[in-house]
Amino acid sequence: MNKIEHLGIAVHDLEASNTLFEKILGVPHYKIEEVASEGVKTSFFKAGPNKIELLQAIDDNSPIAKFLEKRGEGVHHIAFAVEDIEAEIERLILEGFTVLNTVPKKGADNKLVVFLHPKSTNGVLIELCQEDPSSKR
Ligand code: ZN
Repeated sequence: MNKIEHLGIAVHDLEASNTLFEKILGVPHYKIEEVASEGVKTSFFKAGPNKIELLQAIDDNSPIAKFLEKRGEGVHHIAFAVEDIEAEIERLILEGFTVLNTVPKKGADNKLVVFLHPKSTNGVLIELCQEDPSSKR
């Protein structure tokens, strides 16, 4: 696994949180993207080498809606960059982790993503992401 690719933060109100994080980080968000399959609307910030993803639910069935209900706003997941997501999935399954999707999904910001169930990772939702080769132009 390489560096931390981004931190995901669950928020109630993306607009308000964009303003807040612009104040904190000193830079505006660089994109807003809806990932309908995940039930989320996201925005992304880059501050130096660090990337923050804000996540708002787009409906009540969204995993973010469920997270906010249970835990409130806050850090939702840590995403690590990997070079070969399929090899990592295989490795982590062999290590006994519960992988939420064994086939990488298209995530936000041109990434292929997979999540590890927090039950097997000390309560931390971990995302692995790889640059989506099909998104390169
Ligand atoms: Zn993420």
